[in-house]
Amino acid sequence: MSERLSKCPLCKSARFLNYSEITDFAVTGEKFILCKCSDCQLLFTNPRPGQTEIGPYYNFPEYFSHEDKAKSITQWIYQKVRNYNISKKVDFIEQYKKKGKLLDYGCGTGEFLRAAKSKGWKVAGIEPNDKARHQANLKLKDRIKESIEETDQNTRYDIITLFHVLEHIHDLRKTTKRVLNHLKSSGYILIAVPNHDSWDGKKYGKFWAGWDIPRHLYHFNSNSITAFKDEFGLELIETKPMKFDSFYVSLLSEGYLDKEAPLLKKYWNAFFAGLKSNKMASKPGEYSSNIFVFKRK
Ligand SMILES: [Zn+2]
Repeated sequence: MSERLSKCPLCKSARFLNYSEITDFAVTGEKFILCKCSDCQLLFTNPRPGQTEIGPYYNFPEYFSHEDKAKSITQWIYQKVRNYNISKKVDFIEQYKKKGKLLDYGCGTGEFLRAAKSKGWKVAGIEPNDKARHQANLKLKDRIKESIEETDQNTRYDIITLFHVLEHIHDLRKTTKRVLNHLKSSGYILIAVPNHDSWDGKKYGKFWAGWDIPRHLYHFNSNSITAFKDEFGLELIETKPMKFDSFYVSLLSEGYLDKEAPLLKKYWNAFFAGLKSNKMASKPGEYSSNIFVFKRK
């Protein structure tokens, strides 16, 4: 049974309207409705698969078993860039705190935490996916838990990161509050999310890979990020663009737009779309994806 929300999952307003219908191009081909909150402007997938039903939408057998060369090249590039980005992310958090306790919520297989640990950070992670968590725990000596409830109640962190995670969390308000309970009063929380108001978001429209429905339950832009900050008593300290995301998202979107398109054409189009998206974003926050750095007020 899917789950139908009667209130905005961010501001609890009952005033929202259907906004669009988007296809799950990556996995199932199913269509989902996006609603838009009239108060905080958040877009949210509604109805949506409940927490116990979402699992299969993360299984990508189609994706991998029919893997063509295009996808493996794309994945190869993705991994190279990811490794580069991991060291950049460690540099980025060190602008705020030189060392301390770091919690990565949605840490995947733990590469970012491992890199931070090697630079002296005391690390912990949350990862609900069993397979990824198992791999992360092999690297990080069982520092990774399945949920925030399993972490030590009394531990407070200097930095908490959620890189492309917030948009996947079913109980947005409750989980955000629980996560914030673990943040030191002087700590920073870094949240990266895609931005549907970006140039590539608008260019690809319903074919934009950043929707990633129904895995993405929420779709933020600068308005709903402001609402998020106010809702949880946070102050926005910095917004940092994730410039590679525009290329990667454009490449996936090209594939959704035209499955039969030759590989080179997709790369060519995605390259220019990525460049243009980054160029058109005249200020941080307008990029394809952004990292928002918050502090408690
Ligand atoms: Zn709302």
